[in-house]
Amino acid sequence: MKMSKQVIIVGGGAAGMMAALVARRQGAAVTLLERNPRVGKKLLVTGNGRGNYTNIKIGLDCYSGNNPQFAADALAVFGSKETIAFFAGLGIVPKIEEQGKVIPLSEQASSLLDVLLYELKATGVQIATEAFVREIWKEGERFHLKVEDGRVFTGEAVIIATGGKAMPSTGSDGNGYALAAAFGHTVTPLFPALVQLKLEGKFFPQIQGVKVNGTAELLAEGRVLAKDRGDLLFANYGISGPPIFQLSREAGRLLQEGKEPVLKVNLLAEFVPEELTAEIRGRFQRGARKTLEFCLVGLVNKRLIRVLLQEAGFTDLARPAGELSVEEQQRIVRILQDWRFIVRGTKSWPSAQVTAGGVDTNELNPKTMESKLVKGLYFAGEIIDIDGRCGGFNLQWAWSSGFVAGRAAALSLLPAEKR
Ligand SMILES: Cc1cc2nc3c(=O)[nH]c(=O)nc-3n(C[C@H](O)[C@H](O)[C@H](O)COP(=O)(O)OP(=O)(O)OC[C@H]3O[C@@H](n4cnc5c(N)ncnc54)[C@H](O)[C@@H]3O)c2cc1C
Repeated sequence: MKMSKQVIIVGGGAAGMMAALVARRQGAAVTLLERNPRVGKKLLVTGNGRGNYTNIKIGLDCYSGNNPQFAADALAVFGSKETIAFFAGLGIVPKIEEQGKVIPLSEQASSLLDVLLYELKATGVQIATEAFVREIWKEGERFHLKVEDGRVFTGEAVIIATGGKAMPSTGSDGNGYALAAAFGHTVTPLFPALVQLKLEGKFFPQIQGVKVNGTAELLAEGRVLAKDRGDLLFANYGISGPPIFQLSREAGRLLQEGKEPVLKVNLLAEFVPEELTAEIRGRFQRGARKTLEFCLVGLVNKRLIRVLLQEAGFTDLARPAGELSVEEQQRIVRILQDWRFIVRGTKSWPSAQVTAGGVDTNELNPKTMESKLVKGLYFAGEIIDIDGRCGGFNLQWAWSSGFVAGRAAALSLLPAEKR
C-alpha cells in the first residue's frame, strides 16, 4: 500500500539499512540519511573483512548492558535463524565456522553490503549520502532533520541508528548520543569494548609480537570474573587476541568503577599443574648442565623465556638448571601457568570493535525500540545500551533491533485500524 508519510532513518550502517528495508517492505516511504559518501562503511571491515554477520549459538548471555534482558524480544522475533534466512533471500549462502560464527560463503563482508544496497535501491528506499544530521526536532506530529549542508528532511517517524563510538573513522563517532539526549534521553556511561588491554610492565617491547595459545582470566578482588581460551598476542602496550577481546568488556566495566582488574595468563594450559611440575623437574634433571634459560627452550616461546624468568625473580639466567631447588622450580611452574598483570586500561575508541553503554533501555520499548519519551522516535543498533560478545553478536543486534524498529515505525504510519 502506498503512503506519503515518511520514515526517516539516520545512519546507513547495519541497523539503519535493515530498518530501511523492513520499513519499505511494510509499504512506508523511507529515506535513509548517511553522513559518508556511501553507506555501510563499518560493515566492510567486520570479521576481518569476511563479515561475521551472525552466530548460530546465540543466547541472551552473549549480551551485556545495564539490562541485557531488553534484547530478548527483538532477538526472539528476528534472531540468527531469521537473519540467515533473510540474507539467503538476498543471495548470501551462509558458511558456519568455529564457535557458531556465520560468514558469507564468499568470505567477503562486501557481499553483505552489495546485496543490501541492491535491495534498498530495488525496493525504492531513498538514500541520501553526505547527509550529516546535526539536529532533529519535532513540531506537532512531524520530525524535522537538519543536515550539515542546510537541507531539511521531514517525516512522521524517525529511527536513530548512528552507531556508537568504536572505530570513529567509519562515521560512527558518537555524535548520535547528542541527538538522543536532545530529546531527553539518558545515555549510560560509554566505554570501549572488544578491545586490547594495556597492562603494567616495562618488558612488553621485548615480547611484542609473541603469540601463545593459552587461557586468560580476569580477576577482581581475588575473584575470577571472566575466562577465555585461544591465541594471546603480546604487544608493546600489553596484550591482544580473541580471548582478551572477550574479557575486555568486563575489564572496562571494572576500570569505570575505579577498580584494579588483574589479568591471569596461563601460557601452558594443556598441562595440569602436577604434569607441568613433573615436566620441569624432569627437564632440569636431564639438562642439569644447561643454563636455566636454555633449559626452557622447546617448552615455551623462546622470546618469552628471559622475561618470564626475570618476572619469577631470577637474576642469573646462566645458572646450571640442575642447581635449582624445588621451590625455585615451583616458581617457574607458577609463572608459566599463573602469570599476573595489573590491567591499567583498555585501548581507545579507534581500536575498539563495539561500544559498551548507550541510550538507556529503560526509556525504550523492547518490542518496538520506540522511545517512551517521544512518540514516533525509534532507536536501533549499537547506539542502544546493548553490546555483544565477539563472534557475530553485535551485527546480530543491529539486524534484530533494526528489523523491529523498521517494522514498528512503518506500522505506526498506518491508520490504527490497518495496523
Ligand atoms: C573492526 C571491527 C570489526 C567488527 N567485526 C564484527 C563482526 O565480525 N561481527 C559482528 O557482529 N560485529 C562486528 N563489529 C561490530 C559491528 O560492526 C557493529 O556493532 C555494527 O556495525 C553496529 O551497527 P550500527 O548500524 O548500529 O552502527 P554502524 O554500523 O556504526 O553505522 C552507523 C552509521 O551511521 C552514520 N552516522 C553517524 N552519525 C550520523 C549522523 N549524525 N547523520 C548521518 N549519518 C550518521 C555512520 O557514518 C555509520 O555509517 C565490528 C566492529 C569493528 C569496528
